[in-house]
Amino acid sequence: MRDLDDLFEALKRSEFRSRFRLRGREAASLQQRGMDIILAHARDFVEQRLAPSEPANDGRQTPMRNHPVFVAQHATATCCRGCLEKWHGIPKGRALSDREVQYVVAVIRRWLCDQQNGGPPQSGCRGCVRKKRLPARSYGTMMVCDGLVVIG
Ligand SMILES: [Zn+2]
Repeated sequence: MRDLDDLFEALKRSEFRSRFRLRGREAASLQQRGMDIILAHARDFVEQRLAPSEPANDGRQTPMRNHPVFVAQHATATCCRGCLEKWHGIPKGRALSDREVQYVVAVIRRWLCDQQNGGPPQSGCRGCVRKKRLPARSYGTMMVCDGLVVIG
């Protein structure tokens, strides 16, 4: 677990992570449901998809869109256990503690709050992930996890 200020500074320096923005349907979802409900979903996702010692489909368990929390997870490297280990120092192969679950939700919350409050300006092509340009129609089913790009 890292200090959140340090973490967010590091995320800003990552070309891949810093490209994610909350917009469109996901931004509307946060606005309509409100932060409390969205964070309750975040906790459920973290508990079900990340917290087990061996999560199902680890590395591919977090879709690219259709929920604001999914976008936040890619933006903050809380998308899978590999990213949690690499970015947050939480080792793979064991279940997350309650404190670690709370930490991950706090990371997601901070990113969502930043985005809600204006966030950095949008830039680049939304179809570009790691400089790989893909047709817009492919983007809906594309999953990305720290360099792993899967066209579904
Ligand atoms: Zn990941």
